Amino acid sequence: MKTALVIVDVQNDFLPAQNDRKDGALAVPEGNDILPIIIDLLDRTKWDWDVVIATQDYHPPRHISFASRHPPHQPFTELEVTDGHGKTYQQTLWPDHCVQGSEGVEIEQNLKQSLDGWKDRLMIARKACYPDVEAYSAFEGYLTEAAAPQDPLPDPGARVLADSDFTKYLRQQGVEKVVVTGLAADFCIDSTAKDSISAGFDTVLVAPTTRAVFADRVEGVFDELVKRGGTVLGRAGTEWQGDVQRWMAK
Ligand SMILES: [Zn+2]
Repeated sequence: MKTALVIVDVQNDFLPAQNDRKDGALAVPEGNDILPIIIDLLDRTKWDWDVVIATQDYHPPRHISFASRHPPHQPFTELEVTDGHGKTYQQTLWPDHCVQGSEGVEIEQNLKQSLDGWKDRLMIARKACYPDVEAYSAFEGYLTEAAAPQDPLPDPGARVLADSDFTKYLRQQGVEKVVVTGLAADFCIDSTAKDSISAGFDTVLVAPTTRAVFADRVEGVFDELVKRGGTVLGRAGTEWQGDVQRWMAK
């Protein structure tokens, strides 16, 4: 049974300042705490992932989710918007973040180095790359080679989950199990894990590998994933590595 490790949006703009790295534009509180844990999951002497996918939030300037596009509305408020596919929904507005070509869009450098050790099994998924479409889930992204990332093709329009590049790639690789890690618990992790469950993958979220924009929402996110048939490990602060290994071997 093959397993994919998915590392969502561990990008400079989502991380608080650390050493010579400055505060990200949309820094998730305590975001740096997850770095050593995810880097340890990339230790090939301990872990044998069949597929590793790192995602990037990958916005053009003036993305629909940016508060700056909707004056006088402010970041961290909600606004009803109609997107490029004609869908009307409540968008949480954000500071400008993860803009294509910026430093903030880059995957955190220590994590990037660890990912280099998986080049033979690594793909990058980039999402929310069209001006008028928001995308929180990794399953909404396009996949590209980590060694030579390609620019996004024109917007293919709204697609069902089963037909997404992400779902198809995992199936082609024979993946049946997905481990979700990264940022942020209450947005992109939530959407990615839900999509993974809906697409039929046996899905584990490792609680210590994520942090939320709004910390008080984390428990609700975990509860909902369990209700939908996912598994949340490490939630009680106890040892979880053995649990993941046993689940992978099942
Ligand atoms: Zn974004």
